This record gives sequence, C-alpha cells and structure tokens, in this order.
Amino acid sequence: MPDDSRPLEGRTVLAVFAHPDDESLACGGTLARLSDAGARVVLMCASRGERGSVSDPALVPDGDLAGVRTRELQDAAAVLGVADVIVLDHPDGELRWAHVPQLHAEIVAAVEQYRPDAVITFAEDGLYWHLDHIGVHERTYTALGSLGSEAPPLYYVTMVQGVMHDIVEAAHAKGGVPPDSRFWGIAADAFGEAAKPPSFSIDVRDWVARKLAALRCHKTQMGRDNPIAWIDEDEARRLLGTEYFRREGAEDGSAADVLEQLGDRYATRNA
Ligand SMILES: [Zn+2]
Repeated sequence: MPDDSRPLEGRTVLAVFAHPDDESLACGGTLARLSDAGARVVLMCASRGERGSVSDPALVPDGDLAGVRTRELQDAAAVLGVADVIVLDHPDGELRWAHVPQLHAEIVAAVEQYRPDAVITFAEDGLYWHLDHIGVHERTYTALGSLGSEAPPLYYVTMVQGVMHDIVEAAHAKGGVPPDSRFWGIAADAFGEAAKPPSFSIDVRDWVARKLAALRCHKTQMGRDNPIAWIDEDEARRLLGTEYFRREGAEDGSAADVLEQLGDRYATRNA
C-alpha cells in the first residue's frame, strides 16, 4: 500500500522530448515532484542535440557535442530523480521529417514496455514553435492514438507567455544580460506565443531548486548570455515555480489521474 509521503508509488510517467534540456525547461519541477511522490519517471529524448549551441568550446574538446549533451542529460535526469533515460539518436533539426516510422515505433515500444499511467510531451506549439518539438508532439500523439483504448492519458506541457520575458528582466536588473537577450537564440516572447491555454498547473516551487540545478547541468546550453544563468532560487521560485499542462482530448476534465492529482485547475489570472 502506498504510504502518504509517496502517493504515486507503483505509478509510472513517461516524458517524451526532443533534445537534452527540453525536459528541465518544460517540466523539470513536475518530473522531480513526481519522482519524490514515488512515481517511476521515464524520460525519452529523441535526439542527442548535436546541432545545438555551445556556450564554451572547452566543454566539447573533441567536438562530440552529441556525446557531451547525452552526459549532460544523464546528469540532469539524476538531479530530477528520473529512473530511466532513453536517448535516441534521431537527427537534431530534422525530427519532424526524418525517421518518422522509427520514432513512432520507439514511442509505442516504450509505452508497451513501461505501461505508463501518463505520458507528457510538447503541445502543438512545441513551446516556441520549434519544428523538432512539433515533430515530437506529432509522433507522440500519433503513437498513442495507434494504441486506441489501451493508450495512457496524454498531457501537453505548455508555457505561459511573459515568463521568459520576466526572466530577462530579472537578469537585466542584476547587470546580467541585456534587455533584448535571447534564450538559445530564441526571443523571450516566442515562448508560449499563440499556445492553447493550459487546463491545469502544477505547483513546483518546492522543486524549483532542482529544476534550476537540472537546467544548469546542460552546461553547453547555459552560458553567461543565457538569462536563466543569472536568476537565483527566489527568482526561480517566482518565475519558474509553476508548470502548465493540458490533457489531450479531455474537454470534460474527466477522472483525475497521476498527473492531475498533483495539479490545480488553471484559471487565467493575468487577464
Ligand atoms: Zn528542444
């Protein structure tokens, strides 16, 4: 019988993302909170991020960015309490078109192997309309759809527009990055732009230190020009302490399950 401190003992959650670091930014707090609640968290990453940026060439002395980012992902996953990490090797930058049947089959196989109670992936907007993220959204949606009534509930993680802008402001106020700073080359306002609204949120303020630590495991992605490198734990609690989700196909807010047990119904507060 599950004890009160670990209400999700025996449950499994599968998270499917595109690149090392997506997991930490999108829902690192939720993954850590799920793990602490007793759930087995399995993370599938479709690529090794070999076309990503490099904050400091000294981090990749042999030029093997895929290898370095795979290790960064393992470090971040350990911080978040992820039980199993599945690192695939699909081509970074081509996930929407390349290896479509293979990625579909790998997601189906992971669901059949781990029997998750819930699956998390990107929403249609891919956090900021990144085509790889949209590709992973599409593959995961299709893979679960192919399982019919056997499919576990599918959750989309989304961001609320304005958060990344506030992180830039916080960094700027400390004399860090300039006010027009970008994240991995992406403008702050692109995050959450034109995304469908979430239906519930998860409070991860008490897990935000681990989310921040996990983000910072991705050293090649976290140079001094990244505003996230500048914020402290208090700011992270305020700015990154809530994660947002929507359940695929659940307009009716049907039965609460493993993820919704942790969440609060989301109402647009800033409108
Ligand atoms: Zn990504």
